[in-house]
Amino acid sequence: MSTQDPREQLSRYQGPLRVWASDAESYAAGCGVFSAAKVRRRFTAVGWERRYGDDPIMLGVIRKIIVALHRDERTTTWEGLQEALREQMAQYADLNPGLRRYVAHAVEQYLDAHDELAAQYGEMRFVTFDPVIGSQGREVVVWAPLYCSADGVREVRRLRVKKARGSTEEHDRWATVAAYIAAGVQMRILPTKIRIVEVGLFDGSTEVVFEGTPDEVRARYEAHGRPVIRGLVEAAGYRPGQSCQKCKLAGCCPSLQDLSGCLGQQHLLAAIGIPLEAARARVGPRDSRRLTTTPRFDTDVAHARSYAARHGHLAARSREEHEGFPIGRWLAEHRQRARRTAGTSPQARVLASLDPWWNPPWPMRWQYAYHHARTHPDTPRATQWITTQRQAWPLLHPGQQQLLASIGISPGTLR
Ligand code: SF4
Repeated sequence: MSTQDPREQLSRYQGPLRVWASDAESYAAGCGVFSAAKVRRRFTAVGWERRYGDDPIMLGVIRKIIVALHRDERTTTWEGLQEALREQMAQYADLNPGLRRYVAHAVEQYLDAHDELAAQYGEMRFVTFDPVIGSQGREVVVWAPLYCSADGVREVRRLRVKKARGSTEEHDRWATVAAYIAAGVQMRILPTKIRIVEVGLFDGSTEVVFEGTPDEVRARYEAHGRPVIRGLVEAAGYRPGQSCQKCKLAGCCPSLQDLSGCLGQQHLLAAIGIPLEAARARVGPRDSRRLTTTPRFDTDVAHARSYAARHGHLAARSREEHEGFPIGRWLAEHRQRARRTAGTSPQARVLASLDPWWNPPWPMRWQYAYHHARTHPDTPRATQWITTQRQAWPLLHPGQQQLLASIGISPGTLR
């Protein structure tokens, strides 16, 4: 192994540089030498090379399936989506069964979130994954999908395995860099607005973490993004911590040699961060929740009441209107609000009184298909859907089983 300090080796590197928005996100907490090695794409330490496993990354699988489904016209119906999803999942037959179930669930939730975002902000077309700007071997990239509308709105979506969160920092560095990239990508339609949205794959929740004009995006990047990118490229000091586990230099880092056995020691890594209890204590108790609805809600909910009276449910499609009121979009907004609110709001209680499954924990596409099967049970589409449900019965949520049972469908019972 070379005895040359890795920082010296890094300073001589002449190859391409690539900075990811996620590097900017973890900048403050991370090791400076780790960041400098990571952004130097072709850098390997003299005498030691890190080998990475080739297991598919779960989010990577989800992304590939999302792209394929965006291009598949069958996904407008629940049955078509299931067929297309089955075909896609067949390509990952060697995934662990628990992971397969999560991937299928996450993809459905993502497509629901996509529809709900379209209902709230208008149609968006998928452009690409991982947009990149820069030239001559100096690139800035964001690991995320980019969408755009016909009138120049560009949207980057940050995928989270759990629920979507609002931005926790005053200047969300990931969003700052992602917005700058989205504004700078060369496209036929010039950008008019940039939006950064977080999507929770667990429940299809969404949170807008940034929205602004291209000028606002550039000003924010100059103030809060560019200095961070510069800092990432310089090989500042060593700081052992979580990044050691995935560091290109882990086998030859002088800092780790002083901490023999650091890799993989959870207790040591936890000691570097902030304990969960301390973080919770700092946040303090939640504000007391409002007990009543608003006058605006009381006016709007009259449309929901009338819709439920006519159809027997609140599973309105995202673009559906009722008596001139955008009932689909309004319900989509309330579903999103309910997903990011702890506990049950007064509004959610009112909607649940009209339809207990107005915001189900399963994808809305299933709910649409259920109501179609309930009201048109003899159509070929409903018959096929019912057969699929009976076969998949053990995998269904108890609430889904209850809904099916209420219209006479159960395993082993023919309608
Ligand atoms: S092994 Fe750890 S301390 Fe050493 S350079 Fe990598 S991240 Fe920094």
